[in-house]
Amino acid sequence: MNELISLDAAELARRIHAREVSSVDVTRAHLERIEAVDGPAESGVHAFLHLDADGALAAAEAADRAIADGTPASPLAGVPIALKDNLTTTDMPTTAASRILEGWRPPYDATVVARLRAAGLVPLGKTNLDEFAMGSSTENSAFGPSRNPWDLTRIPGGSGGGSSSAVAAGETPLALGSDTGGSIRQPGAVTGTVGVKPTYGTVSRYGLIAFSSSLDQIGPCARSVLDAALLHEVIGGQDKNDQTSVSAPLPPVVEAAQAGARGDLSGVRVGVVTEFSGEGYQPGVLGAFTDAVRVLGELGAEVVEVSCPSFGYALPAYYLIAPSEASSNLARFDAMRYGLRVGDDGEHAADEVMSLTREAGFGAEVKRRIMIGTHALSAGSYDALYGKAQKARTLIVRDFTAAFETCDVLISPTTPTTAFPIGERADDPLAMYLADLCTIPSNLAGNAALSVPCGLSADDGLPVGLQIMAPALADDRAYRVAAAYEVARGPGAGPRIPELRALETSR
Ligand code: GLN
Repeated sequence: MNELISLDAAELARRIHAREVSSVDVTRAHLERIEAVDGPAESGVHAFLHLDADGALAAAEAADRAIADGTPASPLAGVPIALKDNLTTTDMPTTAASRILEGWRPPYDATVVARLRAAGLVPLGKTNLDEFAMGSSTENSAFGPSRNPWDLTRIPGGSGGGSSSAVAAGETPLALGSDTGGSIRQPGAVTGTVGVKPTYGTVSRYGLIAFSSSLDQIGPCARSVLDAALLHEVIGGQDKNDQTSVSAPLPPVVEAAQAGARGDLSGVRVGVVTEFSGEGYQPGVLGAFTDAVRVLGELGAEVVEVSCPSFGYALPAYYLIAPSEASSNLARFDAMRYGLRVGDDGEHAADEVMSLTREAGFGAEVKRRIMIGTHALSAGSYDALYGKAQKARTLIVRDFTAAFETCDVLISPTTPTTAFPIGERADDPLAMYLADLCTIPSNLAGNAALSVPCGLSADDGLPVGLQIMAPALADDRAYRVAAAYEVARGPGAGPRIPELRALETSR
């Protein structure tokens, strides 16, 4: 194994900028790693749907030239990154892991992609996801599931399982994901990596294929808290192309990660959410979480219990609001404007072509959500379903507001269980939805939340995630606590790149 693939983005950037190693060498090392472990689709990690080796090497050469000239574009210039395949890219296909976008080439880059390029990062390729980001395991991808590098028979989480498994397997030091109900944090938790959902509106959604526009948020995937913060600063900030983009300055996340790493949390009040424990939680997850609570106390934090009674409504409210917005957002895939077109043979009318295309192009989960959402928004059901869900959303916001009056951050396990076997929940949508029990409230409220590795579960040896939630526009608080915890936890979370064991034994 090339040492370069095990290094954090911050260390890679340091070496590249000191010209101890070139961005081209770093990029090559990661491309070789991808070559070695990503395929074949049936048995490899299968994190990538598309690779752009030539484009990556060209970007790396450009970064090396700028560094040689003394003008690196940013602190992360020259560092490779992978992009979830629901972010538009002009030089690579964008599929959202759906057949319906087959053959489509976006005419523009997502704002976050444009910012990465401007910052001199090196896009390697596009990563796998549940179709249109709907799912918790990456099994809903039209192109087959990704696998968890810790155990290739298990899911890497979802919907951003490709981004998180790529980071966990050393295929890339950084990736971008999108989090509508947990799709950055939940895969982060089950792959032993860091995943951040920034405050809603602080990272532009322009060029993110819309799933549920009031919940969707792009954010970083990394192997360290500082790396996530460095990436967060590259992609964040106001964008005139996104009407929901906020004008407030980006919270000082890098500074907070650096301050946190000094390991002092005195004066910080941490609230443990009472509702996120007990029945349905794997004992090994609760064990790792309890240990994290102890560590935070040792770092000087004041740890208290807080009840958020309305969080119990989050899952049902989400599964009305998200499908409702999705049913509307996905109406644009009408066989006329994008990708696939079925039945355009002169025999079928336009509306028939539309339904034939949507029938062939969408997978089962996407169709389920379109039907639920259409029903929830229909005149006869709106008040009882969509309207009620919006009321529950307000109650959840109020719970957060009350909790943040007494606490600086709230914590919980990121997920109730560790990574489950591929196939285990595939036929049981309700069991699948439970994977996001703890992450969804932050999407409904729009506040910041992240997942940081929290050791291994004693019952199966798989990674557990600690979720840290902060008020809107106080993302820095979550970073500070996460960085302090990361340092104090030390090597207890096991090796950073677990695939060595998992992949070698499976091959
Ligand atoms: N698992 C949740 C869902 O299926 C969340 C997905 C996401 O955050 N994109 O909707």
